[in-house]
Amino acid sequence: MSKQDLVREVETFMLERVIPTEAEHHHQMQEASNRWTYTPVMRELRAEAKAKGLWLFPIPEELGGRGLTLTEYAPLCEIMNWCNHGPEMFNCYTGTISNTTAMAKHAPKQLQDKYLKPLADGDIRSCISITERNVPSSDPTDLQFDIKREGDEYVLNGVKSWATGGAMDECQFYLVLGATDINAARHARHSMVLVPREAKGLSLGRIETVLGYDDAPFGHCDLIFDNVRIPVANLIGNEGEGFLMMQSTLGVGRIQLGMGAIGAAERAMREMCSWVETRMIGGRPLVDRQVVTDAIARSRIEIDACRAFILQTTERMQAEGMKAVRGEIAQLKVLAPEVALKVLDRAMQFHGGAGLSYDTPIAEMWAHMRTVRIGEGADEVHRDTIAKLELRRQAAWREANGQ
Ligand SMILES: Cc1cc2nc3c(=O)[nH]c(=O)nc-3n(C[C@H](O)[C@H](O)[C@H](O)COP(=O)(O)OP(=O)(O)OC[C@H]3O[C@@H](n4cnc5c(N)ncnc54)[C@H](O)[C@@H]3O)c2cc1C
Repeated sequence: MSKQDLVREVETFMLERVIPTEAEHHHQMQEASNRWTYTPVMRELRAEAKAKGLWLFPIPEELGGRGLTLTEYAPLCEIMNWCNHGPEMFNCYTGTISNTTAMAKHAPKQLQDKYLKPLADGDIRSCISITERNVPSSDPTDLQFDIKREGDEYVLNGVKSWATGGAMDECQFYLVLGATDINAARHARHSMVLVPREAKGLSLGRIETVLGYDDAPFGHCDLIFDNVRIPVANLIGNEGEGFLMMQSTLGVGRIQLGMGAIGAAERAMREMCSWVETRMIGGRPLVDRQVVTDAIARSRIEIDACRAFILQTTERMQAEGMKAVRGEIAQLKVLAPEVALKVLDRAMQFHGGAGLSYDTPIAEMWAHMRTVRIGEGADEVHRDTIAKLELRRQAAWREANGQ
């Protein structure tokens, strides 16, 4: 299948299978006696997508993926995010992609044999566990979670929070970042270990809500570790390299996040345009007001400019590596959710009450998109990076030009 055909297939699957079953998924979720597992319709769609080869797009073919390059994957990220749970239908949730990548690159063979294939096959799920409620986790070099070596084992103590998907029945392991040497240099304190779901001393704590949504069936929960013992062989990569390893898997995730925001904005645009053309107010359609056409035009300009910037950054990242586009990645991390939130907000406003309800996906998409301004580095952290790079660039310019 050519890459063009693949784009068309994903579009068709979203339009014919995922979007028309959104309401059914919500209904099944409301009726479910267990909210922490896939709904029947999700299971059905995942099986269908997998059978069609629409699966794990950026992961190498030998692991069951499609081996797409970053530039090939980026347009698919937009399309999959026409719906909040879209990426999951293709086993392309960001956490699954980054954990699969980290496991394939850094996990010892016996862990790969046990966990990697079922994860890639979609038979199990996993979770990345970094955040601690009592530590400002925007800067993971401050994390306190204790991982102590005792002979052939690591002993884990502490509480992790906001573990997305951690409470799902399908979640069979956690990749946990904790301090193996709290006195080492900031970037060498932490290590990544794999903790099996069934580990003794590990229990699930409270489940968070996001602006009132529990985000079932994935959810975000506390993980409580009380003298959890795991073999040293469960170390991913090397001791003290957890932070750097985590940073190195961020690239694909940033593009997925940026293009995902574009997908959400496009969905909002679609909902907004079809609504304003049919909603009759005062005997004429809502679209018949300049304030509405102005909002549509602004949205189109912002979406297209943002998409072009992300795609250009993706191409450069692929050609020159992540370091060369560090500033641009920080820019897109700030810009893309900002644009998506603006478009979603306009769509929400023109829908009136319907825009705040489950009648459209707009409110839920807005709630999800708002979290992106905080997770994976808050806006302020990325703006700080952008400003530092700019000041450096300006200083270099002054020096080069004798100013
Ligand atoms: C829906 C959702 C899902 C999540 N999923 C996961 C998950 O799967 N695994 C996981 O480990 N974590 C997850 N998280 C946690 C998330 O990564 C953290 O909330 C995020 O890193 C911010 O950390 P914090 O909450 O401790 O905020 P803090 O670090 O305390 O920051 C609070 C605020 O302080 C400001 N701030 C922070 N640093 C700076 C700075 N350098 N300069 C200026 N201002 C600053 C910002 O305004 C920031 O929002 C999730 C969070 C959400 C909301």
